[in-house]
Amino acid sequence: MAMDEIVEGLSEVSCDVLVIGGGTAGPMAALKAKLKNPKANVVLLEKANVKRSGAISMGMDGLNNAVIPGYATPEQYTKEITIANDGICDQAPVYKYASRCFDIIQELDRFGIKFQKNENGDFDVKKVHHLGSYVLPMPNGDTVKKALYRQLRREQVLISNRYMATRLLTAKDGRIAGVIAVNTRSAEFLVLRAKAVILCTGAAGRLGLPQSGYLWGTYENATNSGDGYAMAYHAGAGLANIECYQINPLIKDYNGPACAYVAGPFGAYTANSEGNRFIECDYWSGQMMQEFYNELQSGKGPVFLKLNHLHSDTVGQIEAVLHTVERPSRGRFHENRGTNYRERMIEMHISEIGLCSGHSASGVFVDEFARTTVTGLYAAGDMASVPHNYMLGAFTNGAVAGEHAIDFAADVELPDYDREDVTREQARVLAPTRRDDGIPPNQLEYKARRLVNDYLQPPKVTAKMQIGQARFAEVRDDLENAMVARDSHELMRALEVSSILDCADMAAFASLFRTESRWGLYHQRVDHPGKNDDDWFCHSILSKQNGKMTAEKRAVAPYIVPIDETERSAYDRQRIRQHA
Ligand SMILES: Cc1cc2nc3c(=O)[nH]c(=O)nc-3n(C[C@H](O)[C@H](O)[C@H](O)COP(=O)(O)OP(=O)(O)OC[C@H]3O[C@@H](n4cnc5c(N)ncnc54)[C@H](O)[C@@H]3O)c2cc1C
Repeated sequence: MAMDEIVEGLSEVSCDVLVIGGGTAGPMAALKAKLKNPKANVVLLEKANVKRSGAISMGMDGLNNAVIPGYATPEQYTKEITIANDGICDQAPVYKYASRCFDIIQELDRFGIKFQKNENGDFDVKKVHHLGSYVLPMPNGDTVKKALYRQLRREQVLISNRYMATRLLTAKDGRIAGVIAVNTRSAEFLVLRAKAVILCTGAAGRLGLPQSGYLWGTYENATNSGDGYAMAYHAGAGLANIECYQINPLIKDYNGPACAYVAGPFGAYTANSEGNRFIECDYWSGQMMQEFYNELQSGKGPVFLKLNHLHSDTVGQIEAVLHTVERPSRGRFHENRGTNYRERMIEMHISEIGLCSGHSASGVFVDEFARTTVTGLYAAGDMASVPHNYMLGAFTNGAVAGEHAIDFAADVELPDYDREDVTREQARVLAPTRRDDGIPPNQLEYKARRLVNDYLQPPKVTAKMQIGQARFAEVRDDLENAMVARDSHELMRALEVSSILDCADMAAFASLFRTESRWGLYHQRVDHPGKNDDDWFCHSILSKQNGKMTAEKRAVAPYIVPIDETERSAYDRQRIRQHA
């Protein structure tokens, strides 16, 4: 058989809890479900290979948001996230994360992922956020996936690698019944029936096109093409605040994080071309990105990461982390370009847009038990709506989802599904393989993502977004009627373009719905400037109803941790004040 040849085939498997996405949240969800009920059947489905998949595939430099007794309290953290998110925050899931994450840190430490400790043996927490101290370095963060994988094997979680989930199955009463998946090496279909499904498919990271022009040169793990957002949408789940985009400050052309979180505690900072600071704090928020954008547009742009004032040995310490743990390619990038932190500042720029709650807030709506609005469907990690969640949020909420889902599964029968849904999905998936000629997926992907940059990248303009919607409809027409996939690998790419386009449509729709500006640059609407708390102090919830995209308002749940009037605007005051 030739490599990636398309093979006809359909099999069916049943389980109690199915976890989709084996990156960060997924392995923890599967592990916790299995540990809570070792007799249950828990399956972990992954498009790539769990051993090296997801945002932490190469490792991670540290925990961005560790709530460690003695350094921070759950109340303080909940307050910080509420303020960073302009008040649009259901605090219950944030508070639950903050109360639970220290247990998870200790557990990860026992798995062999050692966190940095000081001479007294205590966790060595650094300050980067606006108010509290939450950053905990992971000197051997490159071992994180290996350590997780060992645990999955030990507890005998069933792992299905190289299966891409394409559509969720629902029962007649609307509850979740499983998923349809396609093998990425053979195009064979797998129907996985389950009593509960946990979506952990990460960010929609291939939405905008990086300025480098490379389809895969994204900040996010590039296999995260928003499949989970699209699947949840088609299954009828509500998605929250999709207009609150993810935009990050990155190293120009490399598109990796500048890592002010790593370099900041050593004395590095974000500077303008004059070498001066212009923001108070390097914690990523919409307001911080707005200041970054303003500086880029000003005569003092572009913007740089400044380390050349530091001692050579200090820079060496920073390099030892940045060039070995999370992205070893970073050292090679600087070497090939001939840039050395010691000699000059390193140019940064603003990223293309994506959807990601991990760094922002857009995600499938979940409550404090990681439940979506569809019965039996859970979501955790970058694609669930808990804001500014990062890696430890993915682990912790993955654990919460796994534990709740396994109990839920114990009380219900395996739901039935409609065979017609599978037949219809097979026809949709295989359509590009039935054509002899047409447009290859990578060309459609390039086109869709270029349009995202042209029409959706903030500052947002109503008329532009409307034109964008019309262009996306044309791309969809090509996708449905002219796209060709010649082997199973290209078929995976074709399916990914379909998710990307769904996410682009949702991004435009949600952005047009919220007729105000909020979250700094993430939702800056030029023709609706300023926050309008009277009408828009609420979530926007997008969903598919009767086959159509709709949006509605949802009240922010009453706060558990009160926020003073004076504290509410803390994140608005990001710019360094001019001194006379
Ligand atoms: C470059 C970078 C640096 C970061 N640095 C830090 C840091 O220093 N500290 C920190 O705390 N956080 C950091 N983060 C954030 C953190 O890594 C993420 O928030 C977290 O890992 C997200 O976990 P997740 O499980 O949601 O997604 P992921 O870990 O990305 O996992 C998603 C998985 O789903 C799979 N998948 C996708 N679609 C499908 C499908 N259709 N079917 C089956 N499987 C599918 C993917 O292959 C992937 O394995 C960083 C993120 C990035 C990208």
